[in-house]
Order: sequence, then C-alpha cells, then structure tokens
Amino acid sequence: MSKVVIVGAGLVGSTIAYALMLGGTAKEIVLLDRIEEKARTEAMDLNHCASFVRPVRIKSGGYEECSNADIVIVTAGAPQKPGQTRLELVDINTRIIKQIVESTMAYTKEIILLIVTNPVDVMSYIAWKISGLPSSKVFGSGTVLDTSRFRHILSSRCQLDPRNMHAYVVGEHGDSEVPLWSTANVAGVSMDIFCADCHDLCSQEGRDEISYQVRRSAYEIIEGKGATYFAISLAVQRIVESILRDEHSVLTVSTLLENVYGIDKLYLSFPCVLGRNGVERVLPLEMSPDEEEQFLRSAQVVEESIPSQIKMAGNNVPAM
Ligand code: NAD
Repeated sequence: MSKVVIVGAGLVGSTIAYALMLGGTAKEIVLLDRIEEKARTEAMDLNHCASFVRPVRIKSGGYEECSNADIVIVTAGAPQKPGQTRLELVDINTRIIKQIVESTMAYTKEIILLIVTNPVDVMSYIAWKISGLPSSKVFGSGTVLDTSRFRHILSSRCQLDPRNMHAYVVGEHGDSEVPLWSTANVAGVSMDIFCADCHDLCSQEGRDEISYQVRRSAYEIIEGKGATYFAISLAVQRIVESILRDEHSVLTVSTLLENVYGIDKLYLSFPCVLGRNGVERVLPLEMSPDEEEQFLRSAQVVEESIPSQIKMAGNNVPAM
C-alpha cells in the first residue's frame, strides 16, 4: 500500500495529485489544505476521473493522515508573483514550513518529506532541521524541473529526443543554478564532440543563451499565465515513482551536501540515487573549474538566505 499526503492543494499540489493519479503511482492520495473546502473539492474533482484511471483512493483530510503515509509532499506556501524571485519568499514560507513539519511530525516518525515550496533549497534545510529526520528522508524537488527544461531546450536546438540528452542542472533551484555543459552528452557523445560534428555550430554565446533560457523560464511562464505547475508536477511524480518503486533513478533533488566541493551542511541540488529509503547516494559529480566556481557562488546564495535563527538552532527551532 503506497500512501502520499500532499500539503497544499493549490495549483501545484492539485496538479501533482493529478499526475500521481494518471501515473498510477500511489494507491492512496490525501489532499490537505489550510482551506479545507479547497482540498475537499479538488479531491472530489479528481475522484470523477475514476472510470478512466487505475484504481486509486483520493480524499482530503488532516495531519492524522500522515501517521501511515509513505511520503508527505509539501507544496503549501506563497507562490512567486510576476518579477519576484524565489528567495523573496523566505520569510513567509519559513513560518508555513515550520508549522507544517511540526504538525506532520506530531503523527509520525517514519516518513519521507518531499519539499516543493520555494525557495526549495532553504525550505528543505528548514524541514530537515525541524523534523529531526535523517537527511536521506528529507529533500526537495530541487532542479529536477530545471534539468528537464535544460534537456528540452537542448534537444529542440539539436533536434533530438530529450530522453537521449544527458545533462544536469545543479546548485540552487533559482537564479544562481548551474547548467552543466562539461558533462552534458548525447548518448555518451560529449557536447563538444557532438557540436563539432554539427552544421549549426553553437558558439559559447549560444550556450550562454540556452543557460539563460533555462534560468528565466519560470519568470516567463509566471509573467504569461500566473504560475508554473504542469512540469513541476511531473517532476515530482517522477521522484515519487522512483521512491515507491525503489527504482534507484538518478535525479537532481535538493539534498544535504556534506563535504562536497568544500560545502558542508547545505541543501543544494546534485545528482542523487533515489530509492525506497529516500536519497541513497549522492554521486561524486565532476565539474569544470568554471562550473565549480558558479556552483560555489550558488551555495553562498543559498547559505545567505537561511534565516539565522534556523541556522543557529538545533532541532528546537524557536517561534518565528
Ligand atoms: P497556490 O497559491 O496555488 O497554492 C498554495 C496552497 O497552499 C493554497 O491552496 C493555500 O491555501 C495553501 N496553504 C498556505 N498555507 C498553508 C498552510 N499553512 N497549511 C496548509 N496549506 C496552506 O500556489 P502554487 O502555485 O500551488 O505554489 C505553491 C508553492 O510551490 C509556491 O511556494 C511556489 O513557489 C512553489 N513552486 C515550486 C516549484 C519548484 O520547482 N520547486 C515550482 C512551482 C511552484
């Protein structure tokens, strides 16, 4: 029996429920929102898909539902307004994450917490500190979405199936994230060799433009339609699937890095092996000196955004 509780039944939370339902990923999905009527009616709408999907129990409920859940996905919180950075949400969403993690941990000690609320690296760190869970069980959706954006833009430029593009984005899920060109490859062929063999030669400026598009995508979507929710929901579905099916897929979730490129005790995205126990391994990824420099800058941005009361506190984080 696989049970997933989604806290926050807004655009992202309800679309994640839809993706999990279509994927046949979980047997039971519970929607929980501060506005109970919102969660109840989203569950009702989703239940009306019943005759078109594999059997799944979908309902709304309270934190007691976490007691026998496998994963709690947190999407509750203020979303970005047009032009607003993810880091500008720290203050408001810190209070929300603290309340949600404390309420969840009142009902369970055996849970995987998957954080989606932005800024996701800072929120994942806070959730880890407050929950008292091992870091393998607390992580964020990180740059799984940005990695998909990178692969999409690259593949349409190179006229290839995105599933044959192996390229990752690491660091902050935000403006300082680092698309990695040095390890990007097409079925084992490095981009340098692939590009040299291509008539449409990409200059360094061409690569910089693609990296810029990857970082700016969310702003453009929020400007145009108010929010992003389809791709993040499939990214989360992919993460949940790898956990519940113990697939050991490699995904760039936001995880606690310890002694990685000199970074210690900070949540950032890095390629991780995900299985039934959560993050089972962080891969020893190599970067070019320039990428390493960008990655360390990204780490600094995230570190400076963690509220000092959280950084200084043990698990007993004071009221905020
Ligand atoms: P939304 O406003 O549509 O939904 C947020 C929901 O959270 C609302 O239904 C609200 O009632 C609920 N909520 C607020 N406080 C709560 C609490 N204390 N307990 C329970 N529920 C509470 O916003 P959205 O578009 O769904 O975005 C949600 C979050 O996801 C935002 O922080 C957004 O930035 C983030 N997001 C992250 C990614 C990513 O890649 N990590 C991508 C897209 C959006």
